Formats: sequence, C-alpha cells, structure tokens
Amino acid sequence: MIELDGSQLEGGGQILRTALALASITGQEISVDKIREGRPKPGLKAQHISAIKAYRLIAKSEDKGVDLGSQKITFSPKELSGGNFSMNVGTAGSISLVLQALMPATVFLPTALDLKILGGTDVAWSPPSDFLINVLLPTLSKMKYRGTAKLVNRGYYPKGNGRIVFHSNPSQYLRKIKITDFGNIDYIEGTVHSAGLPSDILREIKLAALHVFTEAGIEDVILNENEQKGVAQTRGAGISLWAYTTTGGVIGASALLEKGQEATDIGTKAAYELLEYLKIKAPVGPYLADQLIPYMALAKGKSEIYTTFLSMHTMTNIWVAEQLLPVKFKVDGEQDKPAVISVEGAGVENKFL
Ligand code: ATP
Repeated sequence: MIELDGSQLEGGGQILRTALALASITGQEISVDKIREGRPKPGLKAQHISAIKAYRLIAKSEDKGVDLGSQKITFSPKELSGGNFSMNVGTAGSISLVLQALMPATVFLPTALDLKILGGTDVAWSPPSDFLINVLLPTLSKMKYRGTAKLVNRGYYPKGNGRIVFHSNPSQYLRKIKITDFGNIDYIEGTVHSAGLPSDILREIKLAALHVFTEAGIEDVILNENEQKGVAQTRGAGISLWAYTTTGGVIGASALLEKGQEATDIGTKAAYELLEYLKIKAPVGPYLADQLIPYMALAKGKSEIYTTFLSMHTMTNIWVAEQLLPVKFKVDGEQDKPAVISVEGAGVENKFL
C-alpha cells in the first residue's frame, strides 16, 4: 500500500484525483490522508466522491472512508474496463474535475468509455468546460489521447444542472509532447456564456474583452456568444478565452460572474489575464501545465513544456506522479516564474491492446 499525505505542497483535491488515476493504471493500492487539509472546508467534496465512484465503475475498485468531509481514504483498484455510464456529481460539483480524475485512466481501458455527467460545468477553482474542450483536450490529442467532451448545457454555482457527455477510446500508449516554442500569437478565440440572466449581459462582457484586446493592438479575436435557454434552475455568466500560437500552443484564461460584480469587469479581467500570460511568451499556461503532468509521466519518451508560471498545483502533481510512477521530473525555474518542465515518461502500455 502506498501512503500519500494529502496535505503535501498545495494540499488540495488534485493530490487525490491524480493518485486515483495513477493507482488505477498501475494497479497499486493507496491510502490518502489529510485530504484537502489546508482548505476552509477540509476533506472530500461531492466532486471527489464522484471521482471515486467513477473508479468503482471503470476499475472495479474497493474503497474505505469515502464520505463527505472525510480526510482519509483507502483505495484498491482491480481490473480496468470501459462501458457506458451516467453520473450525477450533485448541485454544482465540478464535472471537469471528475473528468480530471478519470481521463488519464481512459487511455488504458480495454474498450471505449461513454460517460454522461450532470453537475457544474463552469464553477470557480476548476477548469471551465470551454477550457476542457478547447485547451486541454486538443493539447492531449497531440499525445494521441483519444477523448472528446461535448457540452450539452451549462451549469453554474450553486444549482449546477449542467451536462457534459464524455467519450474516449483507448490507446496503446501516450506519445511524448514538446511544447516549448511560443512563436507568435496566431489568433484569439473565446466564448461568452450565460443562463437565466438578461441577454444584454453577453454583449457587455464581450465588448469589455474586445476593448482590452483592441487597446493591446490585437485585432484577430473571435468571441462566440452562448446564451443558455430553457434549462431549469441554473443562473450565471462567464467568459473563456484561448489564444492559439503559431507553434500550435493553446493558452486559456477565464472569468465567472460573481455576486455584485459588473458584467464588464469579468470581460476585462479575463482579457487581462490572457494578455498577462501572452506577454511571457511561454506556450503553456499555468493551469494546463499542472493538468499535463500525469500524462507526461505516463507517456513514452521525453516530454517537455515551457510554462508561464510554475504553480504550486504543478509542483504538487509532479510530487504525486513521482510517488506512483518510476519517473523523475526536471524543473528549470522557480515557483510563480516561467519554467521549463521535462520528464522521461514511464512509457506505460495498454495491456489489453
Ligand atoms: P477546491 O479548489 O474546491 O478546494 P480541489 O482542492 O479539489 O478543489 P484543486 O486541487 O485546487 O481542487 O485543483 C484545481 C484544478 O482546477 C487544477 O488542476 C487547476 O489547474 C484547475 N483550475 C482551477 N482554475 C482553473 C481555470 N480558471 N482554468 C483552468 N483550470 C483551472
């Protein structure tokens, strides 16, 4: 049994998510304690429990201690299998974080996986659905990751009720990835989205973001509007942006409308966040960097990325990967500064194909 201290480094739920995936792929039994110890409400949230439940389905796993707020679990994965499943994370529990826990393992299943998930699609402190679909998955496809996600409808905090349909096919192994050259900004794309709020809001957010880009001399910007109609209960708005570099990099930034905030503020906020990343001329944003770590660790060959900021989440994911796989990452750079991260991957193969 591999014992992991969930309070290491960043000390968030990501330790658990990455550990579930890597333990299931390698067939190792794990225990994780002090789960999310540093968070205001420590322990398991609905999203983490959903991830564990998903592994009961695709890894026939057995677990102990899995309750809301629990800070210690044991997890023992058995045989991996695909299938067709539905899950409800409950209220606005993040769908993308459940998928974050699950996605690395889908490479190594014997068959396809189809998963319909109900919950939050655009909630704070987690990847927005547009980031999953337009930044993470296209980048992973370069590693021959064969997963797709379709947004059926959005779900915001607190009611959720959003829906994503995920589909994956297994691969023999993941290819290495190299994203180190920035080249130039090719163009910027994005989505301004809302549900249950006056339609004007979309235009306000959009114009505020476009204004920031115009001031910065960037004209090639395509912003789509997505007003969600007819879905009961959920209310909210946000903006997701992603910039394509001429070298094939995709860099994401986003903002969600919070209570008491002006719509224009979030357009401005997301655009400035993106510009801040682009100024650094590193082709991998801070969120994508932490999310790529498990895949780089599993891949065959040497992967290398150059990221805008070395985040605590990235360092934490490196730590988890090194606990569960025979890999050693090399990090050139300091925390919160641009950094080059490389690793000779474990070259894990799908034993069923
Ligand atoms: P909580 O943050 O609610 O305590 P948690 O502890 O389970 O939940 P973390 O460990 O903080 O979650 O992990 C959050 C994940 O969400 C990280 O992988 C991070 O990159 C990702 N993330 C957070 N915000 C964004 C964003 N704006 N865009 C893309 N990804 C994001």
